[in-house]
Amino acid sequence: MFHERQVNIKSPAEIKIMREAGQINASVLAAVKELLQPGVTTADLNAAAEEVLKSHGCVSPFKGYGRPPFPASITVSINDEMVHGIPHPKRKLKDGDIVSIDCGTIYQGFVADSAFTAGVGEISPVAKNLLEVTEGALHAGIEKMRKGRRTGDVSAAIQKYVESHGFHVTREYTGHGVGKDMHEGPQVPNIGAAGSGILLRPGMTIALEPMVLVGTYETRVLPDQWTVVSADGSLTAHFEHTVAVTEGEPQILTVL
Ligand code: MG
Ligand code: MG
Repeated sequence: MFHERQVNIKSPAEIKIMREAGQINASVLAAVKELLQPGVTTADLNAAAEEVLKSHGCVSPFKGYGRPPFPASITVSINDEMVHGIPHPKRKLKDGDIVSIDCGTIYQGFVADSAFTAGVGEISPVAKNLLEVTEGALHAGIEKMRKGRRTGDVSAAIQKYVESHGFHVTREYTGHGVGKDMHEGPQVPNIGAAGSGILLRPGMTIALEPMVLVGTYETRVLPDQWTVVSADGSLTAHFEHTVAVTEGEPQILTVL
């Protein structure tokens, strides 16, 4: 089903670097979050993110990634746009929008990757619930990121959490190992069966990223070849953290 990339186990020293990368990434996201208000353009958000990255001597792995090369350092995805929205100087935020910001940071050769969704001004009860459930699903997945568990335990926890709240979780887009490359093994789908998949071991660093939709789980890609939207136009949300498996508690690397 998925192309499986190599799983790279990180040393404690490498995880320390990834933790620093994660802190920088968190500070980028915090700066962007501060700016979320009606009238701000999605290009303004990207410029703010680039300023913070630059102040740390860092760049985002998103810029120039893929085909066609992604043109910005963050993705900004509004309402029915689930992930991979391209910042644009004419795209303005409006009161009631929900906005997903995803950013990566390359620091000392390692990548941190995280995302959040937040409201602009006053948002609808369903939007508020969607944000809570998506963030809750991320933490339900993180809770399973323990030595001896399997990737399927993480996937199943995310799926169960989302579906028990009446929403839908993406089939096509997955969490992933992260390290020197933005996308390493193992792939961690947002759906799956407990007890299946790859055994989790200390030193694995994985970006978990539930993407949740109100209407159905079907998505499509816009003609810009990047922006992924819900097929039925319903609201979507996305939360992501880079997390390390340890001998004990899961360690979230992408927090301040
Ligand atoms: Mg991301
Ligand atoms: Mg990711």
